[in-house]
Amino acid sequence: MKKYSQITALQDALSIFRQQGKTIGFVPTMGALHSGHTSLVQLSKKACDITVASIFVNPTQFNEKDDFMRYPRTLDKDIAMLQKAGCDIVFTPSEQEMYPEKDTRVFSFGALDKVMEGAFRPGHFNGVAQIVSRLFECVQPDKAFFGQKDFQQVAIIKSMVRQLQLKVEIVAAPIIREPDGLAMSSRNMLLSEAQRQSAVGISRALLSAQKNAALRIPITTLKEETIRSIETDPALKVEYFEVVDADSLQAVHAWEDSKAIVGCVAVRVGKIRLIDNIQLV
Ligand code: AMP
Repeated sequence: MKKYSQITALQDALSIFRQQGKTIGFVPTMGALHSGHTSLVQLSKKACDITVASIFVNPTQFNEKDDFMRYPRTLDKDIAMLQKAGCDIVFTPSEQEMYPEKDTRVFSFGALDKVMEGAFRPGHFNGVAQIVSRLFECVQPDKAFFGQKDFQQVAIIKSMVRQLQLKVEIVAAPIIREPDGLAMSSRNMLLSEAQRQSAVGISRALLSAQKNAALRIPITTLKEETIRSIETDPALKVEYFEVVDADSLQAVHAWEDSKAIVGCVAVRVGKIRLIDNIQLV
């Protein structure tokens, strides 16, 4: 595996592969890698000739300074994991490399970023669009792989790709979970033992919501029940639980109103904020 921190060096290496007619798959990450990330590398390896992963904790997408400061950074371990996963190139730029000047671009996502993460984390998706568009410029991938763990992010990235008329294909990959059901997340490593035990209540409640959705219990009841179930543990505080159309991300009020419906949740476990989601219809 080759490691580059400079855009020019990365692009020189990629241009050789491109001249050889090889396709390039890209997995952007913020590091503190786990099996969710390596699952994206595996998908890219199956679909493309060369896989590039990036590791960059992007300051412009953090709306809380503490969250940025606290975000786990485990570069040596990450590089070993990517190597083991068979990644071909890892790109680890500095902040100066990605943002030689302040990025002042403002994206518009209409209704897509007015809800859920967009509503609770002002500026977050603008920062995501800034960094992902910059990374796409650097790597110019044929395909880029994103986890459905960040369900709204996938919709935002697809919208950005349409707006900028980029040629990259966005591939959404399933959520990888711990054996007890907790969605893998870099932030899980910030949980205490007791908080980690509590956090399993999130996926448990989503699974039960999925069962209730199959019974078509009214959506308002399902929402109340899911929030109540999570908050029976005093360590967990629900920021939102929304039942939304899978494409528009707008709230759905009756099961017949949409063909694909997803339940999305954000929960505070002490200072740590976790998100998860599950397909309901
Ligand atoms: P992050 O490093 O958190 O920015 O995540 C990098 C990529 O990994 C994003 O596309 C995430 O959606 C994806 N990802 C994070 N956690 C998981 C997971 N548990 N399962 C699948 N993909 C994930």
